[in-house]
Amino acid sequence: MSDQAFYSSLQQKLATLKDEGLFKPERVLASRQGAEVVAQDGRTLINMCANNYLGLSGDVETQKAAAAALEKYGYGLSSVRFICGTQTVHKELESALSNFLGTEDTILYAAAFDANGGVFEPLFDENDAIISDALNHASIIDGVRLCKAARYRYANNDMADLEKQLIAATEAGKRHKIIVTDGVFSMDGTIAQLDKIVELAEKYGALTMIDESHASGFMGATGRGTHEHCGVIGKIDIITGTLGKALGGAMGGFTSGKKEVIETLRQKSRPYLFSNTLAPMIAGASLAVLERISKSTALRDRLHENTAYFRKEIERIGFTIKPGTHPVVPVMLFEAPVAQKFAARMFELGVLLSGFFYPVVPMGQARVRVQLSAAHTREQLDSVLKAFEQAGKELGIIKN
Ligand SMILES: *Cc1c(COP(=O)(O)O)cnc(C)c1O
Repeated sequence: MSDQAFYSSLQQKLATLKDEGLFKPERVLASRQGAEVVAQDGRTLINMCANNYLGLSGDVETQKAAAAALEKYGYGLSSVRFICGTQTVHKELESALSNFLGTEDTILYAAAFDANGGVFEPLFDENDAIISDALNHASIIDGVRLCKAARYRYANNDMADLEKQLIAATEAGKRHKIIVTDGVFSMDGTIAQLDKIVELAEKYGALTMIDESHASGFMGATGRGTHEHCGVIGKIDIITGTLGKALGGAMGGFTSGKKEVIETLRQKSRPYLFSNTLAPMIAGASLAVLERISKSTALRDRLHENTAYFRKEIERIGFTIKPGTHPVVPVMLFEAPVAQKFAARMFELGVLLSGFFYPVVPMGQARVRVQLSAAHTREQLDSVLKAFEQAGKELGIIKN
């Protein structure tokens, strides 16, 4: 405690963040997660900013499955997987995920952040090339940094640039090349063009990896993910994803792929080897979620109906959105102060939303991001649309 200058410099940096409007306060909820949440002050808000795509986070069935696993397997393991932290429920979940994703084997992590952080270093070295979309998630960027492979970056979703980078890596004589992309990009709701990516991978002899955090459970006809949506099930080498969004919403991540890849990760992936096993109640609940969504596409269908309805109605009112079909709907407000004021006004009107502005999104592209859920009722969506209309008129964003 003898370096006071260290603490003063932190105080100064925090003050600067606040001055620049970049400080992120945390919203405190006094209820479970859901289509409606209760704020700390007791007000009920319609929640439009959770990754709760299938509405399972606060769902009673999910909770009961977790409780059953808690009862049977206890609270935790106090161990990494390879010492004494593997229970039957972990193996069952890995097998169910492989079936669901159409892969050979799956390895669980405490988070998708860890899955991405621990996937590259064991599999690739300085002789190899990682070709990564410029807008990939922070955990992919960090994972790539931990690996000695050469790094190539292509402009977001730009297939011509991807091909350029593939040519560059080939000409550099790289042994193995892997193309890495988010299946869905969470700021824009953009869906990666996996059919074209697979084609390019075949042309240049590259591997492919997708992060399905904003896709697993609801993209594609039966919710298997972006690879199903794009018709390339069985053609992606490595799939990572989270159990903390659509697939239950607590926490946990996974990497899925060919047996020898997963086996290598079990032997060498550092966030797996040196971090505690996933809590059995999460494994049990995730297993129940997979069974439920494999039996019926009702939740997934409901989500897409809600998405289509909201996208159509918000445009009819006069707002500009990024076109698409994903339940992430960026409502464009362009200027940062407008986005901030708008989100604040919506909060007063009973709608929980988050504003995004530079540097999270490009300058002049400020927005509020709406995220639909299967849990939203039509009445709730109509209330949200009414609030959008009111706040939009008050702030002069749409015409009276
Ligand atoms: C949310 C997210 C992650 C991190 O998931 P956690 O399981 O919460 O660590 C990783 N990648 C993408 C694309 C994400 O959206």
